[in-house]
Amino acid sequence: MGKAESFDFSDMAKYNSDAELTPGNGKKGCFISVLVGILLFFLVVCLVIGVGLLVYFAGKDKNCSGASAGSESSSVAELIDKCKDLIDNGESSVCDTCRRTTTTIPSSTQSPAAILQNVRLPRAVLPELYTVELQPNMYDGPPEMFTFNGTVRIRVKCHQTTNNITVHINKLNLTEKIRVTGVDPSDGIHYKNHEIDTRRQFLIIYTNSPLLPGHYYDLDLSFIGPLKDDLHGLYLSSYKRNNQNVYAATTQFQATDLRKAFPCFDEPAIKAKFDITLVRKNHMTSLSNMPKISSESRGNGWIADRFNTTPPVSTYLLAFIICDFQYKEDMTANDVRYRAWARPEAVNQTEYALSVGTKILTYFENYFGIPFPLPKQDMIALPDFAAGAMENWGLITYRETAMLYDPQESSESNKQRVAVVVSHELAHQWFGNLVSPSWWDDLWLNEGFASFVEYMGVDHVHPDWKMFDQIVVEDVQDVFNFDGLVTSHPVYVPVAHPDQINEIFDRISYGKGASIIRMMRFFLGEETFREGLKKYLQNLAYKAAFHDDLWFALGNQSALENKGLNVKEIMDTWTLQMNYPVVMVTVMADGSIQITQKRYLRDYGAVDPLKFVSPFNYHWEIPFTYTTKSNINFNVTDADIHWMHKTDTETISANVQGSDWILGNVMQYGYYRVTYSDDNWNKLINQLDEDHKVFHPINRAQIINDAWNLAMSEDISMTIALKTVNYLDKEKEFIPWKASLRELGYVDSMLERTALYGPFSHFMKKKVSGIFNSSSLSSSNMTHLESFVNTLIAAEACKYGIQSCIDEASRLFHLWMAKPTENPIRSSVRLTVYCSAIKNGDIKEWDFAYKMYQESNVAAEKSRLMIALSCSKEVWVLSRYLQYTKISSEIRKQDATNVIVYISGNAVGRSLAWDFVRSNWDYLLKEYGESSFAFPRLISGVSSSFNTEFEIKQLEDFLKSHPDMGSGTRAFQQAIEKTKSNIRWMDTNYDIVKQWLADQNFL
Ligand SMILES: [Zn+2]
Repeated sequence: MGKAESFDFSDMAKYNSDAELTPGNGKKGCFISVLVGILLFFLVVCLVIGVGLLVYFAGKDKNCSGASAGSESSSVAELIDKCKDLIDNGESSVCDTCRRTTTTIPSSTQSPAAILQNVRLPRAVLPELYTVELQPNMYDGPPEMFTFNGTVRIRVKCHQTTNNITVHINKLNLTEKIRVTGVDPSDGIHYKNHEIDTRRQFLIIYTNSPLLPGHYYDLDLSFIGPLKDDLHGLYLSSYKRNNQNVYAATTQFQATDLRKAFPCFDEPAIKAKFDITLVRKNHMTSLSNMPKISSESRGNGWIADRFNTTPPVSTYLLAFIICDFQYKEDMTANDVRYRAWARPEAVNQTEYALSVGTKILTYFENYFGIPFPLPKQDMIALPDFAAGAMENWGLITYRETAMLYDPQESSESNKQRVAVVVSHELAHQWFGNLVSPSWWDDLWLNEGFASFVEYMGVDHVHPDWKMFDQIVVEDVQDVFNFDGLVTSHPVYVPVAHPDQINEIFDRISYGKGASIIRMMRFFLGEETFREGLKKYLQNLAYKAAFHDDLWFALGNQSALENKGLNVKEIMDTWTLQMNYPVVMVTVMADGSIQITQKRYLRDYGAVDPLKFVSPFNYHWEIPFTYTTKSNINFNVTDADIHWMHKTDTETISANVQGSDWILGNVMQYGYYRVTYSDDNWNKLINQLDEDHKVFHPINRAQIINDAWNLAMSEDISMTIALKTVNYLDKEKEFIPWKASLRELGYVDSMLERTALYGPFSHFMKKKVSGIFNSSSLSSSNMTHLESFVNTLIAAEACKYGIQSCIDEASRLFHLWMAKPTENPIRSSVRLTVYCSAIKNGDIKEWDFAYKMYQESNVAAEKSRLMIALSCSKEVWVLSRYLQYTKISSEIRKQDATNVIVYISGNAVGRSLAWDFVRSNWDYLLKEYGESSFAFPRLISGVSSSFNTEFEIKQLEDFLKSHPDMGSGTRAFQQAIEKTKSNIRWMDTNYDIVKQWLADQNFL
């Protein structure tokens, strides 16, 4: 899936978020049985992964006592029995290993024996071909009553003798008698009866005599389901035309929602072919993964469209759409038909996405050495969409802001977001669609790869955008922040239940996945990386893979080229344990270099409530690089690597001059932080002050990011961190500014309600004044990255009260109000101008912006107006805006939780938003509690600036009184950990910051 929507105030293409892994909670009063569920689900996953891993984990887990596999001879069955006994005997302290896979399964009424059953489908019969017909009914009556009906015939092959066929089903009603028929007429097989296991979402169909290995059978089912605007499964989307509602039916099946559209074997590794027929009214169009091959009339204006048979595909990658949209089309260089669809009113905004899409598709074909396997590629922009985009094979669905681009109305960052998301989804056509994960625990293989390869695709089309520099601030440093918590989790996560699966669509799977793949490409070298990937994709095409398959492909390639890197041994240290190391670099008296690693934590005193045990005792295989003042080299390659193995300390023979600075982790290729003696930190800072351009912009950003976060963890003094941003008034590049503003934005949020905020604002004003002038709001003719810097700086200038910025923003906004049809504001600074004018204006400005929000036909413009509306200083205006989030005709459901977070980002709105979340908790939980992105982000968003004991008590009290947090439990634990570390930051650093501001005459 493409990432969730941005809520970055600086209008940059920051699509990432604090979306986080969030195991839910059991229902009240069933603590023991929830644990049983957890424990057994974990065991079941282990069965699949392999007994070895289970024994390994259990053996590591000291609290697992009676249930532990004490010796390798314990069978999994014995282990399960032991665990069951423990729980039957009322033992509440079951394995920590098991506890960390907390799940939301409401199991209070289930006996342990029932829960013991596998959530995974049996493999006795497997599907070969599905013949599906679906008919959405959305043309008459109130939308609450809309439904869809359909039929499916699944041709299965029997692999083991069995008396049942078990498939997934969810929220469907079966309408006609189930039929099971042997394809060979001599197979006298018939349906006997069936049962539905709602907890596991299973439909189990029993037969009157056994199904036999090697024989084929047809299973026929008819069903009806609700067509709702719930953004999952086959769902209803709507938009307004001439004040009339226009409806469309569309789909989102990842991860486990195809079973809401028709009964199926809904697991990624169970691939099959699909013959799809969609039945529509004659004024509509239908789309699916494959090209349409025929249409026939069904009478009364109904048309049945039949699509060509798919190749073997995972269930979550199917897509069906019925709408009245239009398209633009082009052919790729390799003759793939490529169409871009949108509402008729917005179809002109598809041209940019079409142009980058066709180029990137061909680029990936060449890079991976495998032609795109389908005859066509469609992309479609939908008015209602939960994630950013979804990579359905041959029919990619997008949120409008992620695909539509209007050269007049959209900004450079909107343009980059479109390019990045298009590239990400096209990367999935190989990573995920052609080669799919064996199970969702390797989701990161899909998302990490797509999140890395997206940079390659965009870099191919726009080399001047320096995408490989941007990855450092957008992914590496961004996920560092989150992955420095003890409530983080490893990239590779055992998951079973659909709720757990949804929880791992988070920054770790995307951002850390991308960052460690970038590191791997560096240590393997580009050619080894590419050749290894090609072989991996070729060998596993149309199949499913486990992460070891990738390590072996790359390791074999490395061996072929006589580099001999043990890729699995290296990468296991980055994927099977959470967090990351900080490397202490010391120049010894003889000029040699000593490096020491330890686990970095934002707060070394924090306690992991889930007690994860690292299989490597938090040691990593680290590709260390360095450069020094006398021997400057920012063009490092794999030949420059000094491997630090899973040891505490190593020495590198060298001859570093005593007066030189040394800088580790060149280009920040490695997923680790670096620290030094105070003396060396000061040498680096002096270099920044004297001539910062000696360092590559990536390492300028790295020095700042490392220093501030090492000060956060109290590894170094805050004084050092503060000194790293002194040179900023000379900085002209985007990457270091972006890194600095992340840290200074944090200080801002901590000081916002304190006496130091005034002096801090003066400091910020001074730093920004060096580069801002009032013409910044109207100047044009900038490169892409110059425009990014300009946008960042303008936002800070208006925010910190540079009068010329405020005046110019107000002047431009009033010009627009006077003539609403002609917006005179340059798209890249519109958010800043709107926000400043609304903040410093009154209700007329707000009402005007709201009217423009409702009327705009451009998603990017709507999105920035939606953010700017949260900038008001009026409490009653913000309260009314919060109420709008509950009315979908005012704020679309896909945007509602973002609006609450935007309001919480305003000092005036912070407590309003938190009060709103608490008083509307039941409503929010019901509407968003099952979502992969929205709910955890809501919690982390509204609490991100909490830094008082009072706030932590509120969080803890709320958690106590609301044990059922849906997909928000983990986010709540993280909110508590972050608030504690914010309090600690204030206690440790408030006086240091005060003294520092005083020293520079800001106090
Ligand atoms: Zn994705």
